[in-house]
Amino acid sequence: MAYDPNNVFARILRGEIPCKKVHEDEHTLAFHDIQPQAPVHVLVIPKGPYASFDDFSANASEAEQAALVRAVGKVARDLGVAEPGYRILSNIGEEGGQEVPHLHVHIFAGRRLGRML
Ligand code: 5GP
Repeated sequence: MAYDPNNVFARILRGEIPCKKVHEDEHTLAFHDIQPQAPVHVLVIPKGPYASFDDFSANASEAEQAALVRAVGKVARDLGVAEPGYRILSNIGEEGGQEVPHLHVHIFAGRRLGRML
């Protein structure tokens, strides 16, 4: 999937549209999902132009990859959901159900989430 610089998360990163930010560092931004599907529903994204986890895992630097993993864990701890637990999910491509073509990791928490799919 080619990167579309006008996707909604690229526009959030450029400050063209607002978000409810929960975390920011050199390589990542995290913010509340606009249509939450659980009491806690936060998205963690890299600042770099990566269309999906497939693109990111193949092409992002070690520093960017480490930063995303660390940001996901930190955001979950900061939100107070590491205990009793949470779910992370990233949709990839058409069959994966990805709607926004900029890598994002969903963090869901705040209730018993049930089965995986
Ligand atoms: P996907 O289906 O691509 O994995 O998830 C895209 C997510 O982005 C959806 O959960 C959707 O609610 C969220 N989303 C779409 N547009 C916006 C927006 O403008 N702001 C925020 N905060 N979330 C958005």
